[in-house]
Amino acid sequence: MPKEKPELSDAMRAKMTRKTPMKNPINGTKFTIAISSAKGGVGKSTFATNLALALKQIGCKVGLLDADIYGPSIPKMFNINEKPKSDGQKLEPIVKYDIQCMSIGFLTDQQTPMIWRGPMVTSAIKTFTQKVNWKDLDFIIVDMPPGTGDTQLTFSQEIKMDGAIIVSTPQEVALLDVKRGIKMFDKLGVKILGLIDNMSYFTGDDGKKYKIFGEGGVKKTADEFKKEFLGEIPINPEIGKTGDDGKPIVESKPNHEISKIYLEFANKIKSTYL
Ligand code: ADP
Repeated sequence: MPKEKPELSDAMRAKMTRKTPMKNPINGTKFTIAISSAKGGVGKSTFATNLALALKQIGCKVGLLDADIYGPSIPKMFNINEKPKSDGQKLEPIVKYDIQCMSIGFLTDQQTPMIWRGPMVTSAIKTFTQKVNWKDLDFIIVDMPPGTGDTQLTFSQEIKMDGAIIVSTPQEVALLDVKRGIKMFDKLGVKILGLIDNMSYFTGDDGKKYKIFGEGGVKKTADEFKKEFLGEIPINPEIGKTGDDGKPIVESKPNHEISKIYLEFANKIKSTYL
């Protein structure tokens, strides 16, 4: 059994208990939804991009904000290579697949590592939320970095966040971090819409379901913390391939069985808010 990590550092706890400043909505949008994961590589960006595309497909106006400053994924997953225009005051989001997008990856060379300290990250997040010309959106989907760090704190404390979805794989080691993520959003007063079990099983050529990363762990964690379990997304090579090709599965194969799963999540979110 992996050893449980200490929950939150003292510095983090002190920051979180400081007087909460006024929370402003992101200009130009009705609702801001964070897609979060406690660990990297569990499929958070894949979920964020496909959810944004699914919401668009059911008639919502959607923005996608890549808040993963150290590891932006949207430029690759949406195959965007242009730089956003600026009028000296505000940045114009780049519109792709009818979605307004912004990412630090649009402003930097994709292969250059971001070596930034916390305050610089905070300032980049403020730019993306206050100085981007987001226009007439129903939802901004925010692809958060993994973990419980400065980005999560900046968002939760300064921006009106309408909900968070936590994506995890069913492995024990991922679930330990999920519990910390749940506690963080609870402490920061951000409503957790629910948990997603990604890569929950693989269906073999024999038609059998193989639970490669274990079984039922995400649902159990959701139950333990009285959060909603939103459902499972199986392992499917098409998900990875379409993401790598810059046109995620919901956009490139809207009738695929996997796309239908994302559409169900999108319908649920739409009916919760609109
Ligand atoms: P994160 O944002 O959590 O770091 P990514 O969304 O970048 O994770 O996903 C990590 C890798 O896993 C990517 O190569 C992605 O294509 C792949 N992936 C994500 N979800 C699935 C899935 N359900 N089935 C197959 N591959 C997946």
